Amino acid sequence: MMAGYFINAQLTAIKCGKLIDGKNDQPQLNKAILIEGNTIKDIVEQSVIPRNATIIDLNNKTVLPGLIDCHTHVLLQGDITSEDYDVQLLKESIPYRTLRASAACKIALMNGFTTIRDLETEGAMYADVDLKKAINNNVIPGPRMFVSTRAINTTGHYAISNAEYSWELHMPKGIQEITGADEARRAVREQISYGADWIKIYADRSYYRLSDSSFRSFQNFTKEEIEAIADETIKSGKFLASHAVTRDGIIYSLNAGARTIEHGFAMDDECMDLMIKKNAYWCPTATVIDYVAEGRAKAGNPINAQMLRTLPSVFKKALQKGVKIAFGTDVGGFDWQKVPQAREFTFYVQWGMTPMQAIKSATTVAAELLNKKGQLGEISKNAFADIIAVNGDPLQDIKILENIVFVMKDGKVVK
Ligand SMILES: [Zn+2]
Repeated sequence: MMAGYFINAQLTAIKCGKLIDGKNDQPQLNKAILIEGNTIKDIVEQSVIPRNATIIDLNNKTVLPGLIDCHTHVLLQGDITSEDYDVQLLKESIPYRTLRASAACKIALMNGFTTIRDLETEGAMYADVDLKKAINNNVIPGPRMFVSTRAINTTGHYAISNAEYSWELHMPKGIQEITGADEARRAVREQISYGADWIKIYADRSYYRLSDSSFRSFQNFTKEEIEAIADETIKSGKFLASHAVTRDGIIYSLNAGARTIEHGFAMDDECMDLMIKKNAYWCPTATVIDYVAEGRAKAGNPINAQMLRTLPSVFKKALQKGVKIAFGTDVGGFDWQKVPQAREFTFYVQWGMTPMQAIKSATTVAAELLNKKGQLGEISKNAFADIIAVNGDPLQDIKILENIVFVMKDGKVVK
């Protein structure tokens, strides 16, 4: 077969009632997006659409760039308690978890997330690399994936907890354990060799509160370990994402060279100033803490509920100071089927972002985080044709983004 060989690339024109392009602060009216192959060729007035173009009429909708979620776990299906987590690692094989993950990938895409940064497989080794490959080869539907494979933490500091099971058992771990700078370097090199686009670390653990009501935690890495990881990551042209909740995790991650701070629920003024100085991004993952706080409090661990109460003021201050806030949900930490990822927008708007700022956090700002400015997260000439649409106006009601009615990824209509 030589299908397509003799045919000129087909031109498609999407008529947009209202266009939010991810870049401009104001929506535009009566525009059309011209698409050839998987690329946006131009944005023109509807009156000058070329005659040979195939028309997709979205004149009664608001059209936006495909959304980007910078913090997902396709290989996790909710983990309010350690039981939820352990059962997935102990009772489900990695092939079975990967099948569930392929369903999660489809959910993300149908919800308008045409790109995700998946921040580790939670014990499923390199299955994220396979999912990314299957999506890119059109075996399964799903978003563009940036993957981080196994993640890294230090020996004994991550689930599954040895203390909760017989010491005679060798428990599987949700991360790659290292001790010492050499093992840290080896882990980074291994993960990159198997296909990691990002390296994910867990910088702090065991959160607690001081009498002055500030939150603190324990550092997982020595200075030598975290510096070895960051050095090896950056030297390989990759980026470092750091799970860091309090200043104990945040400051040494940033000083080592982390590009993103994940969660950061308890970041203080000094953390925020350092974020700005280092040009780092914050993924607040509001949806996950909202989802797990109550269940974890009931199971005897109230720290998430306490952090959730102070998070709105942390967010407001970070926004005022100018910390770069990129949309990240931690979906997988909450059930893919129960809560739409777009719920995250509602928190950002409640806590002080304009709807347009919230949309940019999941489009242009997220694309910058991924180092894909101009290619993803915007509707502009030469960007990938990742385009979504909703009924109504998300600038009036941000919740409208929880109901995506049209999805094009890579120039193909998938919804
Ligand atoms: Zn996560």
